[in-house]
Amino acid sequence: MFTGKTRNLGVMGWPVEHSLSPAMQNAALEKAGMDYAYIALPVPSQHLEKAVEGLKALGFCGWNVTIPHKTAIMRFMDEVDSSAKMIGAVNTVVNKDGKLKGFNTDAVGFLRGLEHSNFKAAGKNAVILGAGGAARAVIWGLCQVRVSNITLGVRNPKKAEAMAELFRGYTNVAVFNWGDEGFRNALKDAELLVNTTPLGMSPNVDGIPPVEMELLPKTALVYDIIYTPEETKLLRAAGRLGYSVVNGEYMLAGQGAEAFRMWTGMTPDENLMRRVLRESLISQNG
Ligand code: NAP
Repeated sequence: MFTGKTRNLGVMGWPVEHSLSPAMQNAALEKAGMDYAYIALPVPSQHLEKAVEGLKALGFCGWNVTIPHKTAIMRFMDEVDSSAKMIGAVNTVVNKDGKLKGFNTDAVGFLRGLEHSNFKAAGKNAVILGAGGAARAVIWGLCQVRVSNITLGVRNPKKAEAMAELFRGYTNVAVFNWGDEGFRNALKDAELLVNTTPLGMSPNVDGIPPVEMELLPKTALVYDIIYTPEETKLLRAAGRLGYSVVNGEYMLAGQGAEAFRMWTGMTPDENLMRRVLRESLISQNG
C-alpha cells in the first residue's frame, strides 16, 4: 500500500506505455519490502527540461531514462558518471540531496549475461555485430572486464570506425564489413560473439545477421542482446551447432537490477525481475 511516506521512482520516455520497467521494478521493490512506487513518466521531447526540474522539485529518488531522452537528458544533469559518458547515454538518474547524477547501467547489465554463462572475458577475443547505441554499452562492459581484442562486424565500417576510436585507449578494436576476409579470420579466433543489431527482433523474427557462425571455435559463447523473441533465429542456429547461448533478458534485467541498487542500496531478486519481464512480454505480444 502506498502512504505519505512512499518514495517515488519511474521511467521517463516517449512513448513509454510499453515499458517493462514498471512491472519489473515494482515486483522487485515489493519482494524486498521497500516502500517505493515506480511509475511510467511519459515526457515528450519539448518538455524534457521542465520534466527533469519537476521530478527534482517533487523529490523523486531517481528514475530510468529511455528512448528518446537517453542522450538529450545528459545536459540537464548536475553530474554525469564516466561510464555514461563513454556510452554516450544516461539510462539511470539518481537524486542525491537535490543533485542529479546520470549513470548508464547497460554495460553492467550486459556483463550479467556473461556471468550467468560462467564466461570469463579477461584476455579473450570478442566479435560484436553492429555498432549502434547498445554496442557502445557492450564494448564498454567488455573493456571493464579486460577483454583483449574486439572486432566489430558491420554493414558500414566507415560509420563504426568513429565509434571504435573512442574505445581504443582501453582495448584493441578492429572494424570490418562482415563480408571481409578479416572478419572471417576474427570469427575463427573469437571466444565470444555478440549480436547488437536488431536483426531477428520481433516482429521480424526471420532476420539473422549474415555471419558464418560455424567458423567460431566450438567453445565460443553466442550472446544475442535481443530479448524478444526469447530465442532468436541466431540463437537457435547457434544452439543447433552446439554453442553455448544467452539472450538479452539477462542484460535487460541486469541493467534494472543495477539501477535498483543505486536507488535503494539493496540487491533485488534478479530471477524474479527476469521472470516478470518474460511474463510481461508474453502478455504484451500474445
Ligand atoms: P541502434 O543504435 O539503431 O544500432 C543498431 C545497429 O545495428 C547499427 O550498427 C546498425 O547499423 C545495425 N543494423 C540495423 N539494422 C541492420 C540491418 N538490417 N543490417 C545490418 N545492420 C543493421 O540500435 P540499438 O539501440 O543499438 O539496439 C540494437 C538492438 O539491441 C535492438 O534489437 C534492441 O532491442 C537491443 N537492445 C537490447 C538491450 C537489452 O537490455 N537486452 C538494450 C539495448 C538494446 P547502421 O549503423 O549501419 O544503421
